[in-house]
Amino acid sequence: MAIRKVFVKGEEILTKHCKPVREITPRVRELCNDMIDTMRDQDGVGLAAPQVGVMKRIFVAIPDREDEDNVYVMINPEILEKSGEQECVEGCLSVPGYVGHVKRPMTVRVKALDIDGNEQEYEFSGFGANVICHEYDHLEGILYTDIARDVMTNEEYDKLLKEKEEDLKRKMSVKGGMSV
Ligand SMILES: [Zn+2]
Repeated sequence: MAIRKVFVKGEEILTKHCKPVREITPRVRELCNDMIDTMRDQDGVGLAAPQVGVMKRIFVAIPDREDEDNVYVMINPEILEKSGEQECVEGCLSVPGYVGHVKRPMTVRVKALDIDGNEQEYEFSGFGANVICHEYDHLEGILYTDIARDVMTNEEYDKLLKEKEEDLKRKMSVKGGMSV
């Protein structure tokens, strides 16, 4: 087990197109396991190789909120199909302290090699599709802050949520306290 250093926005490696993995060697497996450890250590739901300074097409992800023990390792992933649309609130271990609104597909179908080198095909919707697209973008050198509608600090976001909540309460009291 090894926790690796997470590179943050401003480091050039996060803007680079990553290279396919040619062979799943013990070193590649070690990298995958270290990425899982690093993701868990930072309470993340995904981590891509360039975030730990390696320009390879690998990411690890926890796309199912209900099953956080289920970690996916995706090597040389390809997005086969995207459909629908959703607006997501995203953060990133490489952009600590910030969140932003990003448009993502509602459903994605993805093909990748697992840690044993077997080709797998998956379909994810909602949160899972969000996580997979975010991680896939890292392999293309794209950070969510490059494509977000807005980016704000965690504090600003909390304030925004509180304002929305108060606005909703006000509207409800106008309607005589009905739960609408
Ligand atoms: Zn990220």
